Amino acid sequence: VVDAHVVYVPVSKHRLLVMVLLYDITELKEIERMQLDFVGNVSHELKTPITAITGFSETLLQGAMNDKKALPEFLAIIHKESLKLTDLVEDILSLSRIDASPELNLKEINLRIYITELLKTFKPQLEKKKIKVFLEISEDYVVNMDQNKLRHVIDNLIQNAIKYNNFQGKIWIDGSVDETSWNISIRDNGYGIPQDKQERIFERFYRIDTSRSRDSGGTGLGLSVVKEYVAAMNGEIILESQVGVGSKFIIKFPMEQDIQKSQKESL
Ligand code: ADP
Repeated sequence: VVDAHVVYVPVSKHRLLVMVLLYDITELKEIERMQLDFVGNVSHELKTPITAITGFSETLLQGAMNDKKALPEFLAIIHKESLKLTDLVEDILSLSRIDASPELNLKEINLRIYITELLKTFKPQLEKKKIKVFLEISEDYVVNMDQNKLRHVIDNLIQNAIKYNNFQGKIWIDGSVDETSWNISIRDNGYGIPQDKQERIFERFYRIDTSRSRDSGGTGLGLSVVKEYVAAMNGEIILESQVGVGSKFIIKFPMEQDIQKSQKESL
C-alpha cells in the first residue's frame, strides 16, 4: 500500500520543481486493520453475554421470577454470563496493559515458592476435577523476572492445563536451566491439541470449537496474552501436543547474568 504526497518547490521565477513522495504504508495499514478487527471482535464477544444477561433478567422481571423452576435456572445463566464478562474484560485489560507498559520491572523470584503460592489460588478448581500437580523445580531456582508479567503467563497456562484436562488428570510443572536460557514447562495429560491448530491457538479469540472446549467457557484470549507477555520478556513459547495424550507448553527466557552459577549447577 502506497501513500503519495506532491510537493511543489519554486526554484526560480519560471521554474517549479514538482516532487512526488511515495510512502510505503503497508505496515501502518496492517496495524490499523488489526486494531479494527480487534475492536470488532471485542464488541462481538462482549455482546453475547450482555444479550443473555439482559434477556434473562428481563424475562424474570416480567414474571418468570414467580416460576420456581425458571428462577434458579435463569439466575444460574445470568451468573455464568457475568463471570464470562469479567474474564473477557480482564483479558482485554491484560492485552492493553502490555501495550501501555512494555518495560520490565525485574525482581528476584524463587520460582518454587512463587509457583507453590500461585497454585493455592487454583485449589478449588483442582479439587473439583481431582487433578494432581507435580512440581519439579529445585528449591534454590532463583530467576530475575518481571513478577507481574510472569504471573499472567503461568496463571493462564495452569488455568488451561486444568480446563482442558480430564477428571483425575495430571499436571507437571518443571523448571530447568541450560546454557543459554532458563525454562519452565507446564505439561498436562488432557485433551491435547490437533497439529493443524497448534499455531492458531495463540491468535486472539481463536478457540478450538469442540464441545468440551465450549463447555469450559473460555474467552479465546488467554494464549494471546501469554504470547505477548512472553515476547515482552524477550522469551519464546514452544508447544508440543498430541490429541488424547496431552500438551506441553515450554517457555524459554534468555539467561540472565545474575542467575547464580551455583543454582545453575544444582539443577
Ligand atoms: P480459552 O481457553 O479462553 O478458550 P486460550 O487462548 O487460552 O483461550 O486457548 C485457545 C484454545 O486452545 C482453547 O479454546 C483450547 O481449545 C486450546 N487449548 C489451550 N490450552 C490447552 C491445553 N492445555 N490442552 C488442550 N487444549 C488447549
